Amino acid sequence: MNIPKLAIPEIESIRPIVISGPCSAESRDQVLQTARLLSKKGIKILRAGIWKPRTRPGGFEGVGAKGLPWLAEAKRKTGMLIATEVATPAHWHQVKQIGLDMVWIGARTTANPFAVQELAEAMQGTTIPVLVKNPLSPDLELWCGAIERLWNSGITNICAIHRGFSSFGEKIYRNDPIWHIPIELKRRYPQITIFCDPSHIGGQRELIAPLSQQAMDIDFDGLFIESHCNPDAALSDATQQITPDTLDYILKSLVIRENSQMEENISMYRRQIDDIDEQLLVLLSKRMRISRDIGQYKKEHGVTILQSTRYSEILDKGNKTGSRLSLSPEFVDTIMKSIHEESVKVQMEVMN
Ligand code: PEP
Ligand code: MN
Repeated sequence: MNIPKLAIPEIESIRPIVISGPCSAESRDQVLQTARLLSKKGIKILRAGIWKPRTRPGGFEGVGAKGLPWLAEAKRKTGMLIATEVATPAHWHQVKQIGLDMVWIGARTTANPFAVQELAEAMQGTTIPVLVKNPLSPDLELWCGAIERLWNSGITNICAIHRGFSSFGEKIYRNDPIWHIPIELKRRYPQITIFCDPSHIGGQRELIAPLSQQAMDIDFDGLFIESHCNPDAALSDATQQITPDTLDYILKSLVIRENSQMEENISMYRRQIDDIDEQLLVLLSKRMRISRDIGQYKKEHGVTILQSTRYSEILDKGNKTGSRLSLSPEFVDTIMKSIHEESVKVQMEVMN
């Protein structure tokens, strides 16, 4: 499988290729106004969701096929290329009929091989670009599997979109970036054009700029960013949408470095280290929350904070696990003692 670089005659292949537009097409006015503002800022490709796969029922599920003519009108009026999400063969047939320029497959669809297979067969041999989002779970094989199903259907204009991975509990990002997964995808398909979707990774406006910079630093080709003429009034994903003005500001602030191989490799390592450090901090914060809960429990039941047998047990366990993981005993000892010390401090705060 030798997936080629995306080649769109209308778009110069400069980094980053930017695709932007609302999470959902909501009304004719909103689509046209957003498209016009983006086009004025030089954005050449408009995204807008017509059918929205919501995790829970009752959310805004998109306007459906009645929004397709709005997209076609935006294309006529601005000359932008238009992309939307397809999740079923029926979506594809309607999109094809109206003549859009690219489609993407959403994270929930990529996670389902039956759905991807049906779509791949419906889209057989299409020459328009098909952008494949990563699945919800951090499962590289599912992502590759979806790409292969399309390829086996004679579709060669395939790109990838990294939109982060779902996780449970406390978190910094709406969807954890776990950068080493898209990095491994790039290693497997060296030519594939890969976009970063900082909107769905971050889930908040403030994270779009730093995530976009990180994506550029590890040599992503493009950015897939949600924008809206009036983000606060958006019917879906309001907290992560930005105005075309803000988008322009973020894009102008990006530092696009030459992709010298050495810098690229170092950035990849650093990204992985930053990822892991973040995960460590998230885990430590979970750990301390449980310490606080246990402190509360001890207070209610009149139990002392420090029980030395329990402390020795924690150190012993840490030692054994550490040695299985080839970590030095002194290092593990220092960390476990420091965690325990902080935990006692947290429990004392609860007691007093
Ligand atoms: C989207 O891009 O609008 C979308 C639904 O994203 P995802 O499939 O990544 O959740
Ligand atoms: Mn969205």
